[in-house]
Amino acid sequence: MNKCLIHVCCLPCLLGEIDKLRELNLNYSLFFSNSNMDTLSEFNKRKDELSKLNYPIIIDEYDHGDWLSSLDCLEKDPKTYPENSDRCLACLKYRLKRAFDYAKKNNFQYVFSTLSISLYKDTDYLNKLGFDFEKQYGIKYLLLNIPPNEWKEVSLKKSKELNCYRQKYCGCEFSKDS
Ligand code: SF4
Repeated sequence: MNKCLIHVCCLPCLLGEIDKLRELNLNYSLFFSNSNMDTLSEFNKRKDELSKLNYPIIIDEYDHGDWLSSLDCLEKDPKTYPENSDRCLACLKYRLKRAFDYAKKNNFQYVFSTLSISLYKDTDYLNKLGFDFEKQYGIKYLLLNIPPNEWKEVSLKKSKELNCYRQKYCGCEFSKDS
């Protein structure tokens, strides 16, 4: 069975997609790579939620300093909605690239990102990047056909059923309300 690495930003986002993913005949592992989190405790809080689903979980190193350096002075970009400032695009690239790097080293045939269907992200940018990486790495970038409003509805419903932690901010210090 083909292996698919799922880059997971948080459990609520994944829950909006999990039924469609289960319909595909793939062997899934969850990849938690989110150095964008402002604190280690926030990183751990979101990571621990993943054990509510029964999939292997790979935890990438938490290195917020490296993530900040990768932004290349874009950290002062204004907070936007959806999250599509240059800072956010650099952040999406940083995280998706780590998923492809891991997938390449560990012989995955597919990469999927929970961020690819979202009302809050620049999904056009992310998905174009995913297809660029697909060519570069020789690994399929998986996209699901789920309307964002349907994704949100399912995510909310399942999050309540599982009593999920539903964070009030995207993750970095710049996404918090001041
Ligand atoms: S708001 Fe979200 S997407 Fe944008 S830089 Fe912060 S963590 Fe990344």
